[in-house]
Amino acid sequence: MKLGVFGGTFDPVHHGHLIVAEYVRERIGLDRVLFIPTLISPHKADAPVTSPAHRLAMLREGIKFNPFFQVSDIEIERGGVSYTIDTLRQMGEEGATDEFFLLIGADNLMEFRSWKEPGEIVKRAKLVVMNRPGFAGAPADPLLPGDIIQCPVPSIDISATEIRHRVQKGLPISYLVPPSVARYIDRHRLYRQV
Ligand code: ATP
Repeated sequence: MKLGVFGGTFDPVHHGHLIVAEYVRERIGLDRVLFIPTLISPHKADAPVTSPAHRLAMLREGIKFNPFFQVSDIEIERGGVSYTIDTLRQMGEEGATDEFFLLIGADNLMEFRSWKEPGEIVKRAKLVVMNRPGFAGAPADPLLPGDIIQCPVPSIDISATEIRHRVQKGLPISYLVPPSVARYIDRHRLYRQV
């Protein structure tokens, strides 16, 4: 099975995530895209993050109409800092015949070399880089693997940060997130104070 692995804080999931993931799925012919919310993001360890239960619930709401999308709580269940290499190792043990494609936005690629065991990551998964407005494509970096897949996706200038700020200011977030996610945010009074 060709599995897309899409990790992130997803605080909250938004249409940027969903649109680019669906493009990659179609282009690469992935059988499934797994959205994997972090418990503790290595690069955002000091930033206040919404509880994993809320982020997971919003993801489940956000992907529910796409039969190719699934949410995995593997990093939340594992506990501790959520390192991608640990997730790939764990998933490799569970699905030895699967082929993994790691989806990352161009903003994340810049930091990829500072991730835990980047060399091991690229042995276990093909890197699929998705363009993101405001961030250059893959830099010519000899330490990055040569076979990065640059997957052109529509440029969607939406970030979770913007959504949190809009909610905090009392501005609407319709069209930025699926309606069920907007309702969840409203019902649980998330992001009122940032
Ligand atoms: P924040 O604003 O809180 O930093 P974010 O919107 O960047 O959040 P994350 O959950 O941190 O969302 O992102 C998860 C993954 O999705 C990352 O690889 C990121 O690069 C990618 N991503 C997020 N938004 C977009 C977008 N609009 N276009 C392309 N990739 C995106």
